Amino acid sequence: MDKYRIKPGQNVQLKDFDPDDKSGWNRDKESGDAKLVELRMELDHLQEVLYAENKRKILIVLQAMDTAGKDGTIRSVFQGVNPQGVRVASFKVPSIAEQAHDYLWRIHAEAPANGEIMIFNRSHYENLLVVRVHNLAPEEIWQRRFQHINNFERMLADEGTTIIKFFLNIDLKTQKQRLMDRLNDPQKQWKLSTSDLPERKLWPAYTQAYEDVLSKTSTEYAPWYVVPSNHNWYRDLAVASVIVDTLKMLKPGFPKSTFDLEAYRTQLESEKD
Ligand code: AMP
Ligand code: MG
Repeated sequence: MDKYRIKPGQNVQLKDFDPDDKSGWNRDKESGDAKLVELRMELDHLQEVLYAENKRKILIVLQAMDTAGKDGTIRSVFQGVNPQGVRVASFKVPSIAEQAHDYLWRIHAEAPANGEIMIFNRSHYENLLVVRVHNLAPEEIWQRRFQHINNFERMLADEGTTIIKFFLNIDLKTQKQRLMDRLNDPQKQWKLSTSDLPERKLWPAYTQAYEDVLSKTSTEYAPWYVVPSNHNWYRDLAVASVIVDTLKMLKPGFPKSTFDLEAYRTQLESEKD
């Protein structure tokens, strides 16, 4: 799944990335689902060790067009992981208080602490996406944010945060199908919004904004992965694989006790009950 990682300085054209690609798994969906079950168990274990170690922090950033499955990915990949060890922050239109501060203020407040896995459902990148596409700030303001964001992530990384960023890549046709499915399902209609169809018209502008983000902010310390997401099972498998592989590379270990366990045992054994 490493092939989905964007190299620093790579010039990304999304037309070169096939949202239908499943080439990271050369078997069928059923065996892919079975692999995902294994990966969830590994993730649960790795999370526990990271938490016990209490030294390092994990930040997972999810960005995507509507219906690509940010929520579904979180539900699928993290089911089975201890809820005490994982947090999710969903970034919506900034509140009045948030708008009165710099754009990283609300983001930094949700950055993970030692031992934590933090998931950002949308993120600081909206300042280079919706803000750009909808002209919510002039170009001279958002252009310099590429640099701010790289510096911010560098700081988080220097201070012990492992950052993994995912762009869930679907195509316009798949989005239409998924909106149609929502429309036809009374239990999914609540997800529809009057902005969905106008946003679809802006697909080319979002594509360009994403290409710039992926080209300019994929670094050694905070890489982007472009995950083919037309097939949900493959998307979940790819995201889970990248996370598990990254956590394994950190080689987390249970900490050694800082006091004399034999003395503790002797004392405990001598207790009456
Ligand atoms: P959803 O994720 O579907 O609940 O929608 C959240 C909405 O908040 C999306 O339309 C985002 O584009 C929007 N949003 C998130 N961050 C920002 C931001 N910094 N500025 C403006 N809109 C934002
Ligand atoms: Mg939405």
